[in-house]
Amino acid sequence: MVERSERGDEGGPGGEPEAIGQCTECGEVYAVQHEDGDLRPIGTDGVCECGNDVFESVTEL
Ligand SMILES: [Zn+2]
Repeated sequence: MVERSERGDEGGPGGEPEAIGQCTECGEVYAVQHEDGDLRPIGTDGVCECGNDVFESVTEL
């Protein structure tokens, strides 16, 4: 598992939460950041624990 990325990820996995996102597969809820128009859960590799990487916004912070 590689934590570092040179792709210009802002904030990294420990960034500021911007919204609440819900996994479209299992319904798990995460604090998320907006990234390129998608939602990315904070503290993960960008995917839900179920393996899904699609999240829908529940509540804007
Ligand atoms: Zn899920």
